[in-house]
Amino acid sequence: MNDVLYLVVPCYNEEAVLYETSKRLSAVMEQLTKAGKISSKSRVMFVNDGSKDKTWEIIEALHKQDPVFCGVCLSRNRGHQNALLAGLMTAKEYADIVISLDADLQDDVNAIEKMVDAYHSGYEIVYGVRSCRKKDTFFKKATAKGFYKFMKLLGVDIVFNHADYRLMSKAALDVLAQFEEVNLFLRGIIPLIGFQSTTVTYERDKRFAGESKYPVSKMLAFAFDGITSFSIKPIRMITCLGFLIFLVSLIALIVFVILKYTGFTIGGWTSTVASIWMIGGIQLLCLGVIGEYIGKIYSETKKRPRYIISKIILDKED
Ligand code: UDP
Ligand code: MG
Repeated sequence: MNDVLYLVVPCYNEEAVLYETSKRLSAVMEQLTKAGKISSKSRVMFVNDGSKDKTWEIIEALHKQDPVFCGVCLSRNRGHQNALLAGLMTAKEYADIVISLDADLQDDVNAIEKMVDAYHSGYEIVYGVRSCRKKDTFFKKATAKGFYKFMKLLGVDIVFNHADYRLMSKAALDVLAQFEEVNLFLRGIIPLIGFQSTTVTYERDKRFAGESKYPVSKMLAFAFDGITSFSIKPIRMITCLGFLIFLVSLIALIVFVILKYTGFTIGGWTSTVASIWMIGGIQLLCLGVIGEYIGKIYSETKKRPRYIISKIILDKED
């Protein structure tokens, strides 16, 4: 089969892992080419997301050593999702199939062949799904589970235990290119594309070198982005909450008036102050959530580029 496969690997300060990653990925590419499952024009495309270390120099050196490696350099750090999109959109110009995976080899490279096989049996999108989270910390496990459950509750269709390890055909990528949103949450967008899709399970390993580029603050921001980019239910919940509180206060008013005229007035300072604070808090919270959505509208209307490529190194032919 002559399908050209591109592996897209976003890299941010990954000098500690790149040599090992490139070795393992080129071995997989060689094996797949030998087995006749992909064309020899297939490539491993590293996307340098404005790294401050030697990541880009290493990518250039790898490309010189072996043309199977190519690189896309972003003009500055734009975050994982934007870097991934830059890679996918560049790769789709040359490839029939694209698989995205992390630079730290947490995504088991043996699943690549399974994904390619699934593609050959007719699937346009293949999601890599973790079989277990044994190697994750308790905190990551608990927050991940809570996040998936919450997203489901809000009616957002995301694949459980799937991160950004997935295969997409050129047809699916062409559709992805039509999604113009600036607040990127690819895990939520891809299921909207539709097409025949399936999953492949793999065991997610520990990052083998270097540090995670997703500290808790970034993780929380990402989860919040995911929720507010895909569901307007929080806004509706605020409306319902507001209505409920309004009803309660109406009933309370009636009760107070009755109490006043029957002579049972109780001077409750604590309850008064407590309710002022509570209502003030709820109002601030609601304003904040509404503000989040307005902020999103603001950044979407500006239509700024989601990534800027400063350089591409790529030999298309063998
Ligand atoms: N990454 C990126 N830009 C960023 C942060 C991360 O391209 O601003 C890449 C990183 O190099 C890695 C992938 O995104 O290939 C996932 O990041 P990481 O492994 O640090 O996240 P974790 O697995 O800890 O959630
Ligand atoms: Mg990782």
